[in-house]
Amino acid sequence: ASPACTELEVVMLDWLGQMLGLPDEFLARSGGEAGGVIQGTASEATLVALLGAKARVMQRVKEQHPEWSDTDILSKLVGYCNKQAHSSVERAGLLGGVQLRSLKPDNKRRLRGETLREAIEEDIRKGLIPFYVVATLGTTSSCAFDDLDEIGDVCKSHENVWLHVDAAYAGSAFICPEYRYLMKGIEKADSFNFNPHKWMLVNFDCSALWLKQPRWIVDAFNVDPLYLKHDQQGSAPDYRHWQIPLGRRFRALKLWFVLRLHGVEYLQEYIRKHIALAHLYEKLCTSDDRFELYEEVTMGLVCFRLKGSNNLNKELLRRINGRGKIHLVPSEIDDIYFLRLAICSRYTEES
Ligand code: PLP
Repeated sequence: ASPACTELEVVMLDWLGQMLGLPDEFLARSGGEAGGVIQGTASEATLVALLGAKARVMQRVKEQHPEWSDTDILSKLVGYCNKQAHSSVERAGLLGGVQLRSLKPDNKRRLRGETLREAIEEDIRKGLIPFYVVATLGTTSSCAFDDLDEIGDVCKSHENVWLHVDAAYAGSAFICPEYRYLMKGIEKADSFNFNPHKWMLVNFDCSALWLKQPRWIVDAFNVDPLYLKHDQQGSAPDYRHWQIPLGRRFRALKLWFVLRLHGVEYLQEYIRKHIALAHLYEKLCTSDDRFELYEEVTMGLVCFRLKGSNNLNKELLRRINGRGKIHLVPSEIDDIYFLRLAICSRYTEES
């Protein structure tokens, strides 16, 4: 019910989208229905996008098979993600009442187009209906990047499977043009999400979601009781239909403050400094015979371990965290346990 809140949110998400180099088809300034909305978290964004994808596929399949009931169709829907996708993706499947398959990544932990294509074709042969794919740019465990370009082609060639991009953490780095190669193929996506609250100096919570066709979400969520009707319906995005709750906060305001206070160049320098610190730490690890890297360093995350057993590394972590100076969160992939140094505080310095 607050026009100022809506207006600023539309403008802020256009600013932010332009800062990331998102194609105009995602932005309100393109003059169409597209645009961004602030969600609370990336988990919510993944679920909202899944519900939009579900609404779109339901309509298409009903046109093709008017004799099928909603339950018939729902039981056939299947979505896909990298095995390394965040647990919130699996959860979105559970909440949305659809099957989600997690697919094996390549040896660099990226989901590749060919793997997706094989899974989709196998499921089509079984009579299932592929409808949703989540590509992760910057996985939680090791900050790996799915091959968005290849995945996008596969989605486009299979009756327009909805492609959602989860860049919760790494998305902030796309404000620096030199990292945009990692989102090559973004124009093939239907929705894109990242959390400015993770790595762009915006206070929690602020998760930015852009949609090319918000109508599928608006339609999926639109219930319009008399007490929510108003005279200006249709003149601006009615964000209550773009999200799960009805009420909403004025989160665009803090985005406005951060962008106006710091400016784009400062924010770019902030990201670059963190990535440079991560590379410095990487060098410290590789120049010490006792350590090895688990993953290539691309952003502010360094995945490393002591050469040796998992137990040895668990003991190292216990000692580091026990001192209370530095806090590291470990992960484990394919039975290899490693430590993760994440540079993400405003106060982190070389020392
Ligand atoms: N997706 C990725 C890649 C993440 O790294 C995370 C959190 O670490 C999430 C989703 C979940 O984010 P949120 O807490 O905003 O739901």
